[in-house]
Amino acid sequence: MVATPSYALYLGEMVKESPYPSSAYKLRIGLLGSEGCTEEMRTQIEKNLHMFVTDNYGMTELGGPGVSGECELRCGLHFAEDHFLPEIIDQDTLEHKAPGEVGELVVTTLSREGMPVLRYRTKDITRINYEPCACGRTHARMDKVMGRTDDMLIIKGVNVFPSQIESVLVGMEHVGPHYQLIVRKKNFLDTLEVKVELNNGELLQSYGELEAVQHKIHDRLKSVLGLETKVTLAEPKSLERFQGKAKRILDLRNEPEE
Ligand SMILES: [Zn+2]
Repeated sequence: MVATPSYALYLGEMVKESPYPSSAYKLRIGLLGSEGCTEEMRTQIEKNLHMFVTDNYGMTELGGPGVSGECELRCGLHFAEDHFLPEIIDQDTLEHKAPGEVGELVVTTLSREGMPVLRYRTKDITRINYEPCACGRTHARMDKVMGRTDDMLIIKGVNVFPSQIESVLVGMEHVGPHYQLIVRKKNFLDTLEVKVELNNGELLQSYGELEAVQHKIHDRLKSVLGLETKVTLAEPKSLERFQGKAKRILDLRNEPEE
């Protein structure tokens, strides 16, 4: 299966509701890509769809998927260095970063004819590991993309990547992997609302339990982000599902205040 993680999650939910066990679908391997996939999301997809999942990276401007991808050891995405030359730069100074340092990925195509790309700025933030991999492949490995220079939210001066919030949510009990981030400006101050979907409607019967879940998420987010958030819980299956890349951020800071 080649899909985005969001869509694989959605298909996993469908399979869970179907009368057949996940093994009946005979899936072996999932090449997921085009958006971030946390460990927790991956575990859930593997469980629901009964397949081994690897993370893959590519972009239309570079010829689509296949720029880099995980091997069976899943300790970084091997770059197809015979076709692409990766570099890591500082997004502000444009200077090269030292090997292993985090920065913006810049890619040059080596084998494309017709539409070669020279030092293309991907806006993706990662680092490259040139150590040999235990699988025997010699191609350098990039870390999972940590975020994009343009989807990093700056809230009250704090850098926030949606992937940080996602890793908190997907590891929690009672809530599913579906969420939405709403950024507003209130009295000239940024506020972040994290709307997250419950995976169990029964919890809605007890106000006390709902409040406990809400507090737990709030506290975990605070320790990971260093930021106050407003956590709201949504009914199961009430948030939008995405077939392509998920659009989870609603930035209302330029809208008039409510
Ligand atoms: Zn490897």
